[in-house]
Amino acid sequence: MSILQVSGVAKTFPGRAGGTVALEATDLLVQENDFITILGPSGCGKSTLLRMVAGLDTPTTGIISLDGKPVHGPGADRGMVFQSYTLFPWLTVLQNVCFGLREKGMPLREQQDIARRFLAKVGLSGFENHFPKQLSGGMQQRTALARALANDPRILLMDEPFGALDHQTRELMQELLLGIWESERKTVLFVTHDIDEAVFMGNRVVVMSARPGRIKCDLPVPLQHPRH
Ligand code: ADP
Ligand code: ADP
Repeated sequence: MSILQVSGVAKTFPGRAGGTVALEATDLLVQENDFITILGPSGCGKSTLLRMVAGLDTPTTGIISLDGKPVHGPGADRGMVFQSYTLFPWLTVLQNVCFGLREKGMPLREQQDIARRFLAKVGLSGFENHFPKQLSGGMQQRTALARALANDPRILLMDEPFGALDHQTRELMQELLLGIWESERKTVLFVTHDIDEAVFMGNRVVVMSARPGRIKCDLPVPLQHPRH
């Protein structure tokens, strides 16, 4: 069975002249362990689609189901990583990664063990007590990735997560994420407007076009990692 099911999902933002159709009726089935990249120009509805899967926006029509259950609002079963500015600046790296676990009511010692384990996986051991502003952009995104993974989500939702990073850091982060995808057997939905990134990262590339947003094609990509 597919892990995520998007069925007949459309989104219109209200406004003058009938509002903005951000996404036309869209169907998408995501299988367990898929790494799907969603590729398309700015404004084609990529973020809107991802935000609806995350439960941060509600479809105008259609249904989104995770493990067969319709999603209503955000949940720990979906880990989200945005482009930037998503760490809590008043919390340390360790506290940021513990955040979701604390919300679940997990004992502090256990939270910290899990958080340290994921910080090690993203190469941030030793930075537990730093604050976000003391870290580079790449390190902040590693922290955001560790925070998303620590909650053990069924699916990882990433919206242009490396879009603000310089080229070299971006390549390092791409390889880090692919390594984690392979070792943790995660399912990933990854939005990008970079063709090279979409084809390099995904085992399936979903291509969208704008005005209004819709899926134009959905293609399997032969695995080509490592890069060189
Ligand atoms: P992308 O992520 O592909 O750049 P978006 O999903 O952000 O595209 O946007 C799709 C369309 O919906 C755009 O025309 C955008 O301006 C519009 N849109 C997105 N969010 C809102 C909103 N909150 N209110 C009104 N229009 C929005
Ligand atoms: P993206 O990087 O996906 O293109 P945008 O810069 O289009 O992001 O959008 C950033 C935020 O602004 C999103 O939360 C989106 O929902 C909102 N937004 C985008 N377009 C509009 C709009 N026309 N009116 C109101 N909010 C919008």
